[in-house]
Amino acid sequence: MKQISIVVPCYNEEASVPLFYKACEEALRPLPVEPEWWFVDDGSTDGTLEQIKALHRQDTRVHYISFSRNFGKEAAMYAGLEATHGEYVAVMDADLQDPPALLGPMLTILETEEYDCVATRRVTRKGEPKLRSFFARRFYKLLNRISKTEVVDGARDFRLMKRAMVDAVLSLKEVSRFSKGIFSWVGFRTQWMEYENVRRAAGETKWSFWKLLIYSLDGIIGFSTAPLALASYMGLVFCLLAFVLILYFFIKTLIWGDPVAGFPAMICIILLLGGIQLFSIGILGQYLSKTYLEAKHRPLYIAREKE
Ligand code: UDP
Ligand code: MG
Repeated sequence: MKQISIVVPCYNEEASVPLFYKACEEALRPLPVEPEWWFVDDGSTDGTLEQIKALHRQDTRVHYISFSRNFGKEAAMYAGLEATHGEYVAVMDADLQDPPALLGPMLTILETEEYDCVATRRVTRKGEPKLRSFFARRFYKLLNRISKTEVVDGARDFRLMKRAMVDAVLSLKEVSRFSKGIFSWVGFRTQWMEYENVRRAAGETKWSFWKLLIYSLDGIIGFSTAPLALASYMGLVFCLLAFVLILYFFIKTLIWGDPVAGFPAMICIILLLGGIQLFSIGILGQYLSKTYLEAKHRPLYIAREKE
């Protein structure tokens, strides 16, 4: 029988972990696969690790990695994927927002059709703050316009992959990880499965608006260099504008003389250009800081315990 590995990043999910295990185990039992679970405790401060250890004592197929601190979901997914052995590997949230019932149909697709991966996307964002949905949509539009890597709107990290794809994902060792981009960048044949948004089983979301904004910047900087080009385009446009203005004022002065005026206009122009220059330097800085962090080659995570 083939093995299926389930990777579950958990950060303060003490209430969800037992619910998740129960639902997932029940969904996998009738399937013709041998399951193993890799729970990754991402430096939780509640009883998450104890809950996972309890599961490990009762079921030897449950394994875990516990981080020395909170490294973020991306690092947790990486650690989990790295630990798996299965021919099939799924990444799932602990909060049951990724329905385990989909695992059966996903498996059937991988076994019977020529696909390497079945990914999921939410067709609704029901139960999510309106403002968050709005910005999420804008972000996907923007990223797809400026990046060659296609990122699907509403795509979840929940997906079932074949081993070859997992190994490809693991071969990308960047520190600023943006999985939605990485999954797409490695290629392979992906079938999309759609489902309605499900609300969290317990606990609350770990993503504040601010955290999501920073994460989306990681996505843009990691998968597009268009903002860098933006600075040169703006430079070019303003050079042309300046050239036209120089000619205009030169001719104007020759004809009508030179009364001193236009002081406010001067201030406006200085402020505008100063702003654009700082903005451009800021873009450079963003890429530089990412390069700096990557150049350090720090590990993606540090494990305290692995069982
Ligand atoms: N998570 C994590 N580390 C973090 C934040 C989140 O491992 O720093 C896990 C979390 O426990 C959950 C999954 O990532 O299993 C998705 O998080 P959440 O449900 O808060 O995100 P949402 O579904 O609201 O986008
Ligand atoms: Mg969730």
